Amino acid sequence: MQALLIEQSDGAYKTVLSEVSPQQLPPGNVTVDVNWSSINYKDALAITGKGKIIRHFPMVPGIDFAGTVHHSEDPRFHVGQQVLLTGFGVGETHWGGLAEQARVNGDWLVALPEGLSERQAMILGTAGFTAMLCVMALEDGGVTPDKGDVLVTGASGGVGSTAVALLSALGYQVTAVSGRESNGDYLRQLGAAQVLPRSEFAAEGRPLEKQRWAGAIDTVGGNVLANILAQVHYSGTVAACGLAGGFTLPTTVMPFILRNVRLQGVDSVQTPAARRTEAWKRLVKTIPASFYQHATTEISLQEAPDVARRLLNNEVTGRTLVKISKA
Ligand code: NDP
Repeated sequence: MQALLIEQSDGAYKTVLSEVSPQQLPPGNVTVDVNWSSINYKDALAITGKGKIIRHFPMVPGIDFAGTVHHSEDPRFHVGQQVLLTGFGVGETHWGGLAEQARVNGDWLVALPEGLSERQAMILGTAGFTAMLCVMALEDGGVTPDKGDVLVTGASGGVGSTAVALLSALGYQVTAVSGRESNGDYLRQLGAAQVLPRSEFAAEGRPLEKQRWAGAIDTVGGNVLANILAQVHYSGTVAACGLAGGFTLPTTVMPFILRNVRLQGVDSVQTPAARRTEAWKRLVKTIPASFYQHATTEISLQEAPDVARRLLNNEVTGRTLVKISKA
C-alpha cells in the first residue's frame, strides 16, 4: 500500500511517499481501507517537522481519516462499514490516515453519521469537529445569538472557516478576524457579517477594553487572545482551541475577576465518546451544503508535503481534503 512516511536518520527529517507492507501496520483490532484524509495544522507541523509532533519513526501522519472497514475483531464494526476517525494520537504516536490502510483501536472509531459521505466527513475533519466543540462551549457558557456579536479568529483556516459557517447558520452575528484582506469575500460568503484585520488585535493591549463581543472562538492564541479577553462582555465566554499565532497568553486576571469572563479550553483529541457523537450529529445537521464546495481544495497524497509547507506559510484557505483511494 502507499503511505506518506516520516523518517528521521542522521538528524535529517524527511517525509516521502512510500510503498509499505500492510503487515507493518501497528497493532489494533480494526483495519480500515482509507478513502479520504485531510491536512490540519498539526499534520502540517508533523509533515514539515516544524513542530515536535512526531517522536517515533517511521511514522505515517494524518490525524483524521474516513474509510471502509476491511477487517474487524471489534463486534461494534463490521467489514464494509463506513467509519471516521479524529484524534487519539493517530498520526502522532500511532500510524495515521495519510495511507491506503490504517489499523486502529475500535474505541477510536466513529460510525459515519447518517447523511454524511466519507468525503464530506473529511472536508469537515478534525478542524470541523473542533469548530463544533467550540460552538458547543459557547452554548455551555450561555452565549446565545441574542446576546450580541461573536468573534472568530484565524477565520480563513480550517477551524475558523467552519466556525464562521456554523455560527452564522445558527443565527449568530459573526465577526471574522483575518490576516488576509484578500479573503474578505470568502469569509462573507461563509456567513461573516463583518471582517476585521488581524492587525487590530496583534499589539499588546490594556487589561480591559470596551466590551464588544458576547463570545469568541480563538484559534490563534498570543496577544490576539489576550485582547479578545479584554473586549468580551460581562459574563461572556471565549473558547480557545489553537496556537496558530503562538502558545503564550499575555493576559491579566482582570477580565475574569471584574467581568466574570469564562475562558473555556477545547481539546478534540480526547473528547469522550458521548460528546464526540453529539458533536458530529450537530455538525452534520448545522453545516450548510454550500460549505462543502466553497471551503474545500482537493489534493492527492503526493501533494500533501507541499500543501503542508504552504499551510504553515499562511497560504492555504479553508480545508484541504486528501483523496487516498484510487477509485
Ligand atoms: P489553519 O492553518 O487551517 O488555520 C489557521 C489560521 O490562523 C490561518 O488560516 C490564519 O487565518 C491564522 N494564522 C496563521 N498564522 C497566524 C499568525 N502567525 N498569527 C495569527 N493568526 C495566524 O489551521 P487549523 O484551522 O487546522 O487549526 C487552527 C489552530 O487550531 C491550530 O493552532 C491548531 O493546532 C488548532 N487546533 C486545535 C485542536 C484542538 O483539539 N484543540 C484541533 C484542531 C486544530 P487568517 O489568514 O484568516 O488570519
